[in-house]
Amino acid sequence: MECLFCKIARGEVPATIVYQDETCVAFSDIDPRSPVHLLVVPREHIPSLAAVDAEHEPLLGHLLHVVSKIATEKKLTAGFRVVVNTGVEGGQTLPHLHLHLLGGRAMHWPPG
Ligand code: 5GP
Ligand code: ZN
Repeated sequence: MECLFCKIARGEVPATIVYQDETCVAFSDIDPRSPVHLLVVPREHIPSLAAVDAEHEPLLGHLLHVVSKIATEKKLTAGFRVVVNTGVEGGQTLPHLHLHLLGGRAMHWPPG
């Protein structure tokens, strides 16, 4: 599978991994947009949030729980943002489902 996030999840491409379990991997974004900018990706190759179905519900819940645990570990007590860019208009650039965890500064709304 020639997918960057699959390769990172398999350890074939280096990344600064902050958390991993049998289901997902969390690592630092290579181009951080905030003091804390992590990506949480499932080990399963799912192209985007638009491609999930009912069988993925436990996985999706797990990914959000992992985000919450990492946010606590990173002491993001003032808040944080979770972003799932989806598809062309959603700004998705890599075709493997991933959650951005952004924190460490005040966020703006609406996002660009
Ligand atoms: P998207 O735009 O698809 O929502 O997010 C893709 C993210 O992957 C971007 O924030 C980008 O900086 C990050 N990214 C792209 N290539 C690499 C890489 O080789 N390593 C890491 N750690 N992040 C990457
Ligand atoms: Zn993949």
